[in-house]
Amino acid sequence: MTSDYDIAVIGGGLVGTAIAYGLAKAGQRVALLDEDDRARRASVANFSLIWVQTKGLGMPEYADWSRGAADLWPQFRDEIAALTEIDLAFTRPGGFHLCLSDAEVEARSSHLSRINAQPGMTPLPYEILGHNAVREMLPDIGPEVVGASYCPLDGQCNSMRLFWGLHTAFYRSGGHYRSRHRVQSLAARDGGFIATTESGAISAGKVVIAAGNDSRRLGAMVGIDAQVRPQRGQVLVTERMKPFLHYPTITVRQADEGSVMLGDAIEEGDTSLAVGTDVLAKMADRARRMFPGLANVNVVRTWAAQRVMTRDGCPIYDESRSHPGAFVANCHSGVTLAPRHALTLAPLIAGSHVAAELPAFGTERFDVSTVY
Ligand SMILES: Cc1cc2nc3c(=O)[nH]c(=O)nc-3n(C[C@H](O)[C@H](O)[C@H](O)COP(=O)(O)OP(=O)(O)OC[C@H]3O[C@@H](n4cnc5c(N)ncnc54)[C@H](O)[C@@H]3O)c2cc1C
Repeated sequence: MTSDYDIAVIGGGLVGTAIAYGLAKAGQRVALLDEDDRARRASVANFSLIWVQTKGLGMPEYADWSRGAADLWPQFRDEIAALTEIDLAFTRPGGFHLCLSDAEVEARSSHLSRINAQPGMTPLPYEILGHNAVREMLPDIGPEVVGASYCPLDGQCNSMRLFWGLHTAFYRSGGHYRSRHRVQSLAARDGGFIATTESGAISAGKVVIAAGNDSRRLGAMVGIDAQVRPQRGQVLVTERMKPFLHYPTITVRQADEGSVMLGDAIEEGDTSLAVGTDVLAKMADRARRMFPGLANVNVVRTWAAQRVMTRDGCPIYDESRSHPGAFVANCHSGVTLAPRHALTLAPLIAGSHVAAELPAFGTERFDVSTVY
C-alpha cells in the first residue's frame, strides 16, 4: 500500500513543528497532524528563554545538547528569517539567575558546581557575582538582590514569533499542516502506520509522536513509554516600559516590544489552566524586590499553562523497538532546543539513527532496572 506521506508528525507545538520543518527541508513528504486553535499548548504560553545554565544535572549529555542548541541559534534565526521574513528577536547577551538571600546564592553556586563536577561534562562557563558586580550589568536591581549566577551562553527570543516562523517555514518547505486532526489512535499497517484522527485516517511510512502531554497515551500504542506529565507554570505580563533590562533573568525579562514578563511558578498536580492569585502575588513580589521600578507598573495579562515535563526533566528522543519507524520527542525546553529539533534531530529521524546517535535520551533510562 502506498502511504499518504513519508512521515506524519503528531503535534503542532514547538517541538513537533520544528521537527516537521527539518523533515520537510530534508525532502520528506510530511503531514503535521494537530488539534484545533482551542488546544492547550505550552508553546504559546512560555517565557521565551534560551537557557543553558540550569540544564544537565544528572545527564551531562543534556547540558551539551542545550549548549549546542544555543550555539545553533544564530544560524537558525538567519535561516528562518531568509525563508519567512520573520524576525525571531533572538539575543544572546548571557543570562542571570538573581538571588534574594545568601541561602539562594549558596544553593545556586552548589547546583552549578555539581553540574560541572559530573564526569564527561564540558565545563559550563559561569560566574557567581555579588550585588555590586550584578549592578554594573543590571543597574536597576534593588538592594535586596544579594547576588546572582551569570552564564554568557544564555539568551532569549520572541517565542510567539518562533512558533509563527516555524509554521511558516514548514509550509514554505512543502509541508502539509492538518488542523482538527487530533489523533485518536495509532497502529502499524503494511510496513507503515495509520493514524486515525477526528477528520479521517492518515497513512505514513514513519510517525513522530510530539503531542506534548498526550504523547504517553499515543506512545503506548506503538510500544513507547514516554513518561511525561503536565506541570503548571504561571506568567504575568506588564504594560510596555522603556528598555531597561538588557539581559534576561530566569524569572524577569523584558520582551523586544517593551513589556516585562514575570514568571514562572512550578506547580505539581494541578492540571487546570486557572491562574492563582496567591502564586501570582508571590511572583510579583519577588520581581518587585529584584527590580523596584516594577512596583507601580500595571499588569496587563496573566496566564497559567502546563509544561510537558519528563520524569527526570531531560528530553526524550527515541524510536520504538517493537514498532520501528515510530519515534517520540518530548522536552520541557522547546524554545531553547528548537534549532536542535529542526537541524539535528529531524535528519536523525529521517535516517532512523535516533537510538544509535542519541542513546542518553532514550526511554530505556526509565526502566526500573536502570541505575543512575
Ligand atoms: C510557563 C512556561 C514557561 C516556559 N518557559 C520556557 C522557556 O523560557 N524556554 C524554553 O525553552 N521552554 C520554556 N517552556 C517550555 C516550552 O514551552 C515547551 O517545551 C514547548 O512548548 C513544548 O512544546 P510541545 O510541542 O512539546 O508541546 P505543546 O506546546 O503542548 O504542543 C503539543 C501539540 O500537540 C497537539 N496534540 C496533543 N495531542 C494531540 C493528538 N492526540 N493528536 C494531534 N495533536 C495533538 C496539541 O494540540 C499541541 O499543538 C515553558 C513552558 C511553560 C508552560
